[in-house]
Amino acid sequence: MTHRSKTRPVKVGNLTIGGSDQVIIQSMTTTKTHDVDATVREIERLEEAGCQIVRVACPDERAANAISEIKKRINIPLVVDIHFDYRLALKAIEGGADKIRINPGNIGKREKVEEVVKAAKAKGIPIRIGVNAGSLERHILQKYGYPTADGMVESALHHIQILEDLDFHDIIVSMKASDVRLAIEAYEKASRAFDYPLHLGITESGTLFAGTVKSAAGLGAILSMGIGNTLRISLSADPVEEVKVARELLKSFGLISNAATLVSCPTCGRIEIDLIKIANEVEEYIQNIKAPIKVSVLGCAVNGPGEAREADIGIAGARGEGLLFKKGKTVRKVPEATMVEELKKEIDIMAAEYFKK
Ligand code: SF4
Repeated sequence: MTHRSKTRPVKVGNLTIGGSDQVIIQSMTTTKTHDVDATVREIERLEEAGCQIVRVACPDERAANAISEIKKRINIPLVVDIHFDYRLALKAIEGGADKIRINPGNIGKREKVEEVVKAAKAKGIPIRIGVNAGSLERHILQKYGYPTADGMVESALHHIQILEDLDFHDIIVSMKASDVRLAIEAYEKASRAFDYPLHLGITESGTLFAGTVKSAAGLGAILSMGIGNTLRISLSADPVEEVKVARELLKSFGLISNAATLVSCPTCGRIEIDLIKIANEVEEYIQNIKAPIKVSVLGCAVNGPGEAREADIGIAGARGEGLLFKKGKTVRKVPEATMVEELKKEIDIMAAEYFKK
């Protein structure tokens, strides 16, 4: 399956979702949207962590009124999340939203849907249809008895049809479920049913640890099928963590080009250095390295450079010191006390060389 690159490209601000193998990272703010300062501060933290598109909730008029000010003060595309109320959607579009998330079938009368579609068209912004297993339409639940992948696809097609009837095609669709197997099946079926880009997510996946495992299991399976053009990891945690997990997940599939990766050994009785501490320090450091460098940290030199042949740079522990190696070859010995600093310097040099190319 290669649904990812075969999707219709949809512009969101200065980014394009779909039509390529790129997977765009999104997150959502946890602040009250009407609190512009707090929301902008959170968005800045998210952007620094690698978030490419941010979504804010728009539950009321105060939130809708804040959109234009937030938009002015941030650098990444802004998605506004609206439930039911078409007036909030109109306000958000007027305020400069780069995309709105609203289900056209939930807006109500056709005139209201037409107004929203007209406004979105005029500004050239897309609409994300958010199908959620937990809130399927009554008629679909009655038909299937409980939330199923087929029911979710039917719901998506119902909303898509409404937009297509109004000659609107800048559509992105999500098929979220908290149940991993249901989400996998729903996305797989959706990818066969239409060629609009898919926004991936395992909704309400849980806390930082459990939610990370659950999201990686579900989204990993979906990504490996070549499905998914953008994603959000949903965690009961600081949203910056969502972005970190998303980046790590995309690294696992080679779907991110502006991130450094860490390879570290699990440690064993041969360990010669304080590997766990070192690996954590290096991992923290490379979060901000935006070059595709593979860094390796190994506890001993038994298999040392050989084991890390695949890495661009790394350290293998020896008694009281470390062997610094590049591309599988030992470059020099460094004392354990300065090992991390030396490695960081070398990583910076390598990153600078990468950007010079
Ligand atoms: Fe053990 Fe050395 Fe392998 Fe780490 S690199 S797991 S310390 S043998």
